[in-house]
Amino acid sequence: MSEHADVDVIVAGAGPAGLVAACLAAAGGFTTAMVTGPESTRPDPRTVALMMPSLAVLEAAGLWPGTLIEIAAPLRKLRLVDDTGALFSAPELVFSAREAGLEAFGWNIPLAVLKPALEERARELGAEFRRASVSGCSVKGGIATLALDDGTTLAGRLVLAADGRHSPLRQAAGIGTVTWSYEQTAIAVSFAHSRPHHGISSEYHKPAGPFTTVPLPGHRSSLVWMERPERADALMALDGKALAAEIQAMSHGELGLVSDIGPRQSFPMSGARAETFARHRVMLIGEAAHIVPPIGAQGLNMSFRDAHDAVALMTAARDKGDDFGGDAVLSDYDGRRQRDVRPRQAVIDLMNRSLLSGYLPMDAGRAAGLAALASFGPLRRFAMTIGLGGSSIPPAADRSATGS
Ligand SMILES: Cc1cc2nc3c(=O)[nH]c(=O)nc-3n(C[C@H](O)[C@H](O)[C@H](O)COP(=O)(O)OP(=O)(O)OC[C@H]3O[C@@H](n4cnc5c(N)ncnc54)[C@H](O)[C@@H]3O)c2cc1C
Repeated sequence: MSEHADVDVIVAGAGPAGLVAACLAAAGGFTTAMVTGPESTRPDPRTVALMMPSLAVLEAAGLWPGTLIEIAAPLRKLRLVDDTGALFSAPELVFSAREAGLEAFGWNIPLAVLKPALEERARELGAEFRRASVSGCSVKGGIATLALDDGTTLAGRLVLAADGRHSPLRQAAGIGTVTWSYEQTAIAVSFAHSRPHHGISSEYHKPAGPFTTVPLPGHRSSLVWMERPERADALMALDGKALAAEIQAMSHGELGLVSDIGPRQSFPMSGARAETFARHRVMLIGEAAHIVPPIGAQGLNMSFRDAHDAVALMTAARDKGDDFGGDAVLSDYDGRRQRDVRPRQAVIDLMNRSLLSGYLPMDAGRAAGLAALASFGPLRRFAMTIGLGGSSIPPAADRSATGS
């Protein structure tokens, strides 16, 4: 194997996490190659609620607001509704972006538009694209060499493995995972409604999991509906009119008449975390590193922070004249990302399992926790800070004192 690197950084996997990593690496002055992986033939109806810190990442990549804002909708309020019918039920909890000193917590963007926009931007920034898949990886000295399924190789000083939940690169690096599953399937779909959503996303906590509506432009919302697998299969088989009636009933008619159901897709629910997020010149990004159910819009927001932190640490090392793909950078990355990801996974898991258990003490615990959030401002602001991705939101009084 040669000691020559074709590029500084190779990104593997052209999902949203890999594409944003490629944009940031190229924008940071690293010569960057993207190995796309297999192209998906399934249309993806998902939208992603990206919080303001993630939008700041897109802005740094030169993509936000741009034209993306035209197909996105702001999230001005987040509502948690206890719809479990449990003996101990929580009061309705409303988080307002204004209380956090923001116009919006974030914006909801269709993935089918976000991904091509990211790819176009990565190309503009100079990333080279290879339409191939990684079939092997070997590391020697300061170079990682990837074998591609088109018979070529590609050598770089660092590999950002964003090759998804089954990550061939994670396996090649010998990194194990902790995995767990839920007896749930999530259905992603969008729909039109007769009443305005007023920029409010509503998460109804049902016995089979959350049913979450998220605003889209106009009188339209996207929906993530978590259900028991058998019921989800039955819902997937319904025609549009029958599904519209189900959605209207599940949302208690709060959005008025539901119609014009978009394409739908179902996703079996599971969770996973790699035992380390970096080893031997490979850093794991996105679902290659961590998987969470879609509760509280954390998945891709964590992945954007992966990409941001990876490139920030690489840049700091390079600017000091250090090896940006060396063990010190990898160890910092692992520590930083584990501290962010682990507690979020734990909270999401607890919330989800407390709904599924139907166990009275769990219901009571969840209700008490949400009641505390509803009535205690500092706790609510803390939850908003964490939900946004850890950025600091001072209380309103402090903000007025500093004039911000
Ligand atoms: C219903 C639903 C709703 C969601 N809503 C939100 C939300 O509102 N907010 C949020 O933050 N998150 C949300 N998420 C999570 C978010 O969608 C995922 O975190 C994100 O799509 C995963 O992106 P990724 O790039 O990590 O993985 P993927 O999109 O799976 O990309 C992996 C890529 O790797 C490629 N690949 C595979 N094998 C190879 C190989 N051998 N070589 C090279 N490349 C390879 C694949 O082709 C693919 O392009 C939601 C998830 C679901 C299921």
